[in-house]
Amino acid sequence: MNKEILSGNEAIARGAYEAGCRVASAYPGTPSTEILENTVNYKEIDSAWAPNEKVALEVAIGASFGGGRALCTMKHVGVNVAADPLFTLSYTGVNGGLVLVTADDPEMHSSQNEQDNRNYAKFAKVPMLEPADSQECKEFTRLAFELSEQYDTPVMLRTTTRISHSKSIVTLAERVSGLAQPKLVKNAAKLVMLPGNARVRHPFVEDRIKKLSEAGATMAINRRELRDTSIGIITSGVCYQYVREALPDASTLKLGMVHPLPHSLIREFAAQVDNLYVVEELDPFIEEQVKSMGIAVTGKELIPLCGELTPGRIRSAFGLQQPQSVSEEKLPGRPPNMCPGCPHRGVFFALNQLKAYVTGDIGCYTLGFMPPLSAMDTCVCMGASIGMATGVSKVVSAEERKRVVAVIGDSTFLHTGINGLMDMVYNNSPSTVVILDNRITAMTGRQDNPASGFTLMDDPSHSIDFPLLCKSLGVKHIRVINPFDLEQTKSVLQEEMERSETSVIITDKPCVLVKREGVFQKGPAYTVEVERCTGCRACLKIGCPAIEWRPSGDGSKKGTAFIDPLLCTGCDVCRQLCKFDAIGRAK
Ligand code: SF4
Ligand code: SF4
Repeated sequence: MNKEILSGNEAIARGAYEAGCRVASAYPGTPSTEILENTVNYKEIDSAWAPNEKVALEVAIGASFGGGRALCTMKHVGVNVAADPLFTLSYTGVNGGLVLVTADDPEMHSSQNEQDNRNYAKFAKVPMLEPADSQECKEFTRLAFELSEQYDTPVMLRTTTRISHSKSIVTLAERVSGLAQPKLVKNAAKLVMLPGNARVRHPFVEDRIKKLSEAGATMAINRRELRDTSIGIITSGVCYQYVREALPDASTLKLGMVHPLPHSLIREFAAQVDNLYVVEELDPFIEEQVKSMGIAVTGKELIPLCGELTPGRIRSAFGLQQPQSVSEEKLPGRPPNMCPGCPHRGVFFALNQLKAYVTGDIGCYTLGFMPPLSAMDTCVCMGASIGMATGVSKVVSAEERKRVVAVIGDSTFLHTGINGLMDMVYNNSPSTVVILDNRITAMTGRQDNPASGFTLMDDPSHSIDFPLLCKSLGVKHIRVINPFDLEQTKSVLQEEMERSETSVIITDKPCVLVKREGVFQKGPAYTVEVERCTGCRACLKIGCPAIEWRPSGDGSKKGTAFIDPLLCTGCDVCRQLCKFDAIGRAK
């Protein structure tokens, strides 16, 4: 058997391949993105980015109803977007196996909240598996497809950031053969969820969860490990690894299926240990259910409710000594920043100067809230900026209304922003929307989208025409600007903010990290002529990482600017800020 070192995400992709998966669909979102970036390497799987998670799940549902095995992946907050089809899919069940991966993000390494998506499995009444390493990511994915077909249910597979991104050894296997060929089979009673049919399916769903709970008692993925029985710990996922490290002698009940819980196995384990604990990240999901079974258990009284756990935090919770730290050396801080030459920088600089109230959105450009740009006032969820601008404008004075601007990226606009703009026009909101079109889904690592002109499989595809799209939604005032031209950016913003009708400004410069030929072209680097530099610091106000401050060295605050030629893309923005003509192209 071949072995490879794989991340959890790579292993899930491998598991889908081995399970005979035909279709993989997703909207990129950290920490889940690399799953589809790996399924695309298996030519047997049709892998595609969808414009949002709801569409991604609907594509997978269609593939499943057609009889093929389908994988759908998303980050935890993506499930909020896909929740509508998910809850009814629970009733219809599947034809081909359907696995929905939710990649949760305790500690919010790259997210706006740390919701615990185990609650979705309980809420939607579907089984959920939770792997604890890369080998399990692969095996559990395979098992999830089998359970999906055996129990006529979608199966959720939950990872967390540490599992998604950590690498460990995985034993590979062959792709299964002999699965039924997909074909169209009509079965309206199962697949058309009108009330009459849905009422019949609901008892099936309840019975299915009961059967799965009973089956969970003998599933190999729910594993009892008896050691010292004075302490027994119920745990799952990455927390299992932490418990083994922090409390190596404790007995454990490692749950591979976290919903539904295997009640009889939990009772047996509880009877075998003197003191029962649950160690789980985020919500007391297992703990509350164990307590509702009438079993005495300790959980969140000891274990933190917020953020990630670590072996150290578990040792602290149990009053154990921490091992001697090997090194206390601290790395220098590295705050997030837009890249040198980022086309968003000029827009936020202008918005700051105009004292705009900016309803923001999810993307690289959320960094516009950071100093020195400091030009974003809200950020709630994907696509929210436009609806929020409409809402703010409804309640503030006519004068303040002119300051309200919504800012949204191209991918986020296509994800769930279009509806907000439709509403803005429909309800005669006078706000201004800026669509930052950088031709890519940049924040998650440059994934293609319906405006980039390419599919995940790298096939050329239609590219959305934003001005035309906005026109079709009824926007009368549409301006396309070069965000590197500070004067134009500021004056167009000013004009449109004054307008008493909905207006849209579209920036048309690509992300500096787009590697596809001909999209972004780096210009010659700029340089500071030290003799002309007065040290006024105006060029520092755009926060370009290529510009450094070089102190004069005499102990005063004086100094000069310096441009790192390796970082500078030659975007020209800083030159426009220097009143002393000290910045120019390197000779
Ligand atoms: S804006 Fe010009 S003069 Fe002022 S610090 Fe920068 S390079 Fe020097
Ligand atoms: S031209 Fe100026 S603003 Fe643009 S990347 Fe270079 S240093 Fe940064």
